[in-house]
Amino acid sequence: MMIGIKENIQKVKSSLPDNVTLVAVSKTKPIADIQEAYDAGQRIFGENKIQEMVAKYDVLPKDIQWHMIGHLQRNKVKYMAHFVDLIHGVDSFKTLEEINKQAKKHDRVINCLLQAHIAKEDTKFGLTFVEIEEILASNELKELKNIKIVGLMGMATFTDNEEQLQEEFSSLASFFNKKQENYPALQILSMGMSGDYKLAIKKGSTMVRIGSSIFGVRNYIA
Ligand SMILES: *Cc1c(COP(=O)(O)O)cnc(C)c1O
Repeated sequence: MMIGIKENIQKVKSSLPDNVTLVAVSKTKPIADIQEAYDAGQRIFGENKIQEMVAKYDVLPKDIQWHMIGHLQRNKVKYMAHFVDLIHGVDSFKTLEEINKQAKKHDRVINCLLQAHIAKEDTKFGLTFVEIEEILASNELKELKNIKIVGLMGMATFTDNEEQLQEEFSSLASFFNKKQENYPALQILSMGMSGDYKLAIKKGSTMVRIGSSIFGVRNYIA
């Protein structure tokens, strides 16, 4: 069955307010699908495996902005350090140090989001709000000249319980707004996927990560 990627992109885009950025999540999807979305005007793509993202970066147009949205393996950061545009899933200071080290080799500053744990599931990675505060306030952070923390990311529980989703998005949004007062560099709040992005936007998301509503369902859970 044909999936109209172009139509899906247009449909999703028209449902987003102007201040919300669309990350088209292309994990597991072939080059041809990404090219189709590119031809429809999309320039920001999200992947959750470093090697898969590198392979796609190598063959696709160079004005694509690649976002790493998955859990990071520190030993693989070096493979994407020369091109990655934004890393969403940073959940430790050690990982920030590694990104900084690899960014420095390429004389770059890599933008990062700290991932907050907001879901009531053990399976999702992320930092507590207290841990995020500690990182932001730490003197060690000031030494890392080749990374910049530009916002926060969160994944809600996989549920259709709207009340619970609202609560999780609201708690991250209000924490984000509070921190922004002291850390004006925090500009991006990445929350919302295909199933919950409209709710996430209502709660204050500025960046949504949408896969299946654009590219169709994936063949395996990635
Ligand atoms: C896969 C993934 C998405 C997109 O999920 P869809 O439900 O297909 O929109 C968003 N964020 C992260 C972190 C993901 O791994």
